Amino acid sequence: MTSSAELFERARALMPGGVNSPVRAFGSVGGTPPFMVSGRGPYLTDADGREYVDLVCSWGPALLGHAHPEVLAAVHAAVDRGLSFGASTPAESELAELVMGRVGAVERLRMVSTGTEATMTAVRLARGFTGRNLVIKFAGCYHGHLDGLLASAGSGVATLALPGSAGVTEATAAETLVLPYNDLAAVEEAFAVRGQEIAAVITEAAPANMGVVEPQPGFNAALARITAANGALLIFDEVLTGFRTGYAGYWGLTGGAADSDAPFVPDLLTFGKVIGGGLPVAALGGRAEVMDHLAPVGPVYQAGTLSGNPVAMAAGVATLTHATHEVYEHIDARSAQLSAAVSEALSAAGVDHSIQRAGNLFSVAFGTSAAGVRNYADAQAQEAFRYGPFFHAMLDAGVYLPPSVFEAWFLSSAHDDTAMDRILAALPAAAKAAAA
Ligand code: PLP
Repeated sequence: MTSSAELFERARALMPGGVNSPVRAFGSVGGTPPFMVSGRGPYLTDADGREYVDLVCSWGPALLGHAHPEVLAAVHAAVDRGLSFGASTPAESELAELVMGRVGAVERLRMVSTGTEATMTAVRLARGFTGRNLVIKFAGCYHGHLDGLLASAGSGVATLALPGSAGVTEATAAETLVLPYNDLAAVEEAFAVRGQEIAAVITEAAPANMGVVEPQPGFNAALARITAANGALLIFDEVLTGFRTGYAGYWGLTGGAADSDAPFVPDLLTFGKVIGGGLPVAALGGRAEVMDHLAPVGPVYQAGTLSGNPVAMAAGVATLTHATHEVYEHIDARSAQLSAAVSEALSAAGVDHSIQRAGNLFSVAFGTSAAGVRNYADAQAQEAFRYGPFFHAMLDAGVYLPPSVFEAWFLSSAHDDTAMDRILAALPAAAKAAAA
């Protein structure tokens, strides 16, 4: 079989950096990325025949683990009926009903194929609805690679230490106001100065692209209050958190929970990742009054050749159907177990760190124990150089972590005791590597 090293060399001659999404190139951790050939449950197998416990889970979608038998069966059945018709299919309504049954804030839904499309459409819709141009985003939040939201974005933009992206015009960048996360005074001030021009505030439900950062209590509810008071919309980006941090996403866990201390309802929500269970599905949804500004009902145009693709819908329906309350209880418990073990191993090796947590999502930051990471400035100031050795020690021991300190660690319902034991056994040596 061709080795990962040979495959990477071949890919580099064919694709920029040898990849189709930058972080996969291992730029910030160094080394040759393993090329994966199969996945089953909590495991991935690479081209060299090595097996890894997977803590990336396709960057979120694999909530039920890889190759879940019932998801595969649903996909196979859909494939047998044909791949794409360019016409409406029953499965689109099935998935929409599943989403709306879980997330009460969604009165209408539009399916798209990527999270980027979902946030891009949400921003266009907010502008079309309000007749205003400006959008507020928070530094370190990543909403996909649409021009207007790449300024101070997290994820790969943070990993590559870029301020934004070449190719974004000044005029486009000027329509985005970038504010520090968790800073309500900055939001109030922006509205005081330019309130009549602001169409929307877009925020990650809980940021997980500068490492995980928990919104301070009441932060999201305050954003909803400030936007509503100023005739702007709140776009709540649940592409990463949706159907992962809980049955009804991060909103269902916090502002939308029956016993919430700070209840609120976002105007628009965006979904991706888990909603497609590993196939390209994303969506935006929210208040009917706003959503009905989308074509063909309203004047805001949006379309997609493969939107609502029947095979992708089948994967989404099967995934959400099997994403039961028990699945979330399992992932919550594994997340608590793993983050405690990571922290213990790092402390034993004398490595200063903080476990960054929002619901069952977590990441590790280095040199940050004093106050943790509350915003992008904190995330960037950490001892990020410790992550590379930690990552490679884990990889050598057969654990596949996100190849960037700015990404969350992902678990699945398939992470059983055997898989967890393998991760836990690898931690002490990795912690020592981080200490060096
Ligand atoms: N929004 C958030 C919060 C994300 O984490 C991501 C991707 O990681 C996106 C949007 C973009 O989604 P996609 O990569 O499917 O375009």
